[in-house]
Amino acid sequence: MGVAVLGATGTVGQRFLQLLERHPWFEVTEVMASDQSAGKRYADAVVSRWKLPTPIPESVRGLKVKGPRDKVASRLLFSALDASVAGELEEYYARAGHLVSSNARNHRMDPLVPLVIPEINRDHMKLLEHQPYRNGGGIVTNPNCSTIVLALTLAPLHQRFGIDSVIVTTFQAASGAGYPGVPSLDILGNVVPYVPGEETKMESETQKILGKMNGRGIDAAVFPVSAQCHRVPVVDGHLMAVSLKLRRTGAKKEIAQALATYRPLAKLSLPTAPADPIEVRSEDDRPQPRLDVDRAGGMGVTVGRLRPCSVLQWKFEALGHNTIRGAAGAAILNAEILRRDGRI
Ligand code: NAP
Repeated sequence: MGVAVLGATGTVGQRFLQLLERHPWFEVTEVMASDQSAGKRYADAVVSRWKLPTPIPESVRGLKVKGPRDKVASRLLFSALDASVAGELEEYYARAGHLVSSNARNHRMDPLVPLVIPEINRDHMKLLEHQPYRNGGGIVTNPNCSTIVLALTLAPLHQRFGIDSVIVTTFQAASGAGYPGVPSLDILGNVVPYVPGEETKMESETQKILGKMNGRGIDAAVFPVSAQCHRVPVVDGHLMAVSLKLRRTGAKKEIAQALATYRPLAKLSLPTAPADPIEVRSEDDRPQPRLDVDRAGGMGVTVGRLRPCSVLQWKFEALGHNTIRGAAGAAILNAEILRRDGRI
């Protein structure tokens, strides 16, 4: 089916086009961005702004970029819109009968909007049935790029042992701020101990994702999450140090096994779902962004250094690709599960 990418010229928009280039179900037939890009050929709109190591896909080079609120023909829209406009434009297109799979933060915490990581909470997609849009319109969101990595590692542990409390410290890549993002003089040879809005998102989104469907809403998980977020001079890949207390503790082997055998989507043959969403490494110095970020095409999360914590109970490191697993790949996987479950 033909799909449209909103915000197609940005950091995440470019990832969408790259990941969808050879997708067996979805083909990008429309692209949309701001007025400064509208009316241009896609290749001209991103000239000197295309930042991926693979070339602009041939199939989109010649597409004429649409502007905000222009009519689109595709039923399914992927949104990588800047948060300053995503809220209003996604609602506009949902009202016009389009199903929007969004990366933007604007609607994530709306009570009737599913915030989904398909491995964990595909049942939350039922919220779509209660949204006010007609003619098949709706909005589905994926979590913030660091929340996805954290929630994926917490889900199997919450399922098996119950989580009591979590403390997480992140080391987040520069590409997480979009392009041009953080000024080079602020980030080169430096660490910035502040990522605007990120700590609140990690704390609240995690509870919604790990919450339970209850009629027309979600009962959020009740365990507290405390996050401290840092921007580091890494191109791609959010690394995080996680400490947690479980309600029912297990041996190290059981915890590692719960993580490594977590494969809830294994039988669904979804093109973007990794065979092993979580890999547990045993080396002392892994995961590392440069070495591990592209595991499973950027859709795999890598965990390492699982060891006892003398304050809580257990601690480990986790890493995921912020623009693939944490953004474009996440929204594509959401669309795949919607299709597999007959919602598109
Ligand atoms: P970005 O590089 O700044 O790209 C923003 C996109 O939005 C561009 O295509 C831009 O078009 C478009 N845009 C801006 N104003 C617009 C308007 N008034 N009407 C229509 N389109 C407009 O940002 P990004 O990093 O790709 O992030 C995109 C979204 O994904 C944001 O909501 C962000 O929070 C979220 N996100 C990002 C990451 C990440 O790792 N980077 C991860 C998860 C989620 P022009 O090029 O024409 O200006």
